[in-house]
Amino acid sequence: MPMSDDFKKRLLPDLADIAAHFGTPFHIYDEAGIFDTGRTLKKAFAPIDGFMEYFAVKALPNPDIMAIMNEMGFGFDCSSIPELVLSRRLGVTGEKIIFTSNNTTDEDFKVAFSDGGCILNLDDISLISRLPSIPDLICFRYNPGPRRTGNDIIGNPVEAKYGVSHDQIVEAYRKMAELGSTRFGLHTMLASNELNYSYIVETTRMLLELIQWIEKELHIKFEFINIGGGMGIPYRPEEAPLDLAQMSKEIIALFAAFRSENGHVPKLFMESGRYMTGPHGVLVTRAINRKDIYRNYIGVDACMSALMRPGMYGAYHHIDVLGKDPANWPTQKVDVVGSLCENIDKFAVQRELPEIEADDILIIQDTGAHGHAMGFNYNAKLRPQELLLRQDGSVERIRREETMADYFATLNFEKKVFCK
Ligand SMILES: *Cc1c(COP(=O)(O)O)cnc(C)c1O
Repeated sequence: MPMSDDFKKRLLPDLADIAAHFGTPFHIYDEAGIFDTGRTLKKAFAPIDGFMEYFAVKALPNPDIMAIMNEMGFGFDCSSIPELVLSRRLGVTGEKIIFTSNNTTDEDFKVAFSDGGCILNLDDISLISRLPSIPDLICFRYNPGPRRTGNDIIGNPVEAKYGVSHDQIVEAYRKMAELGSTRFGLHTMLASNELNYSYIVETTRMLLELIQWIEKELHIKFEFINIGGGMGIPYRPEEAPLDLAQMSKEIIALFAAFRSENGHVPKLFMESGRYMTGPHGVLVTRAINRKDIYRNYIGVDACMSALMRPGMYGAYHHIDVLGKDPANWPTQKVDVVGSLCENIDKFAVQRELPEIEADDILIIQDTGAHGHAMGFNYNAKLRPQELLLRQDGSVERIRREETMADYFATLNFEKKVFCK
């Protein structure tokens, strides 16, 4: 179930006009859908005191989208300096921001500590000695190694570069407690696009067991656990959505059990990106060429600079052709392609679609997370604009398309020369 019926109802009647007004290609995001998902998430975890979603900024780093998250009371999960700056520009600071860097630089630390700070989530025990000062509140990212199996996108934890190993985790908190930290959190991130909710329940169980152990070892108390992101969305029509209601029910039960055993309970944090915005965006592109050789190709005016997932992961994104319902339109098996000189620049491979003519509008779905954000400039391809369909039905341009001037901006500078 890619694009929801509600999103279709809000967008499709005006889509031809929107495309004519702004020009194609563009990603367009559905404000009402994002609010719906946010409200559902909050309601599901309301029984846990201090539940907090920190939107993973990398999924859709646009200030107008982040403002929606802020309005819902969510914080931000950042992993680079520009992401920190984006969040702070919205007036969000301090413990509403988690900084989960890896391969961290001194400059990263400097910015993390400045401008109202953030919750620091350290990726390694060796980083303790590099801290510019000792924060009162500290979190570590845990890597369970062989204790857990990862999923396809994130991979096997043993091979993952992230996090503190099991053997080092107690020592990491011991050191920080000795140095003066008094407040503690524990984080992990093991899954990506996981549709099986049990995996995320097991991650929660693992973290609760771990803090119980560390609390006993070190006589400290944990303020929160952060189960990371990774909640999946169904990209294919035949896939079932993640069972959020059952997932939250089981996690709430784990928290209740923890409370009765330990007399206190941590807060629950998560940092979903894809789940929050993924289904609420589509890439709208126009067919410009068709080509019939060994296969039939539909060339569109977007390319993988707008959406990397199909080329990078072989990911499926559902495609509809505006005004042509495959149920009552002749179909044909085609590859939908961009213009990059890379044969992986395909939005769909051997896909049965309604017969497409030049100027038809294609709706490539579920591009609201890790879509525009992942785009790149290889082959000097420029990234498209982003639009926001507001709840009142108006449409705003929230990022313009890149221009040639943007492309040349990094080439216009005073040459710096080293001479011997
Ligand atoms: C990418 C990332 C997320 C968000 O992942 P989703 O799959 O979009 O939910 C959250 N936390 C960290 C540390 C990440 O790297």
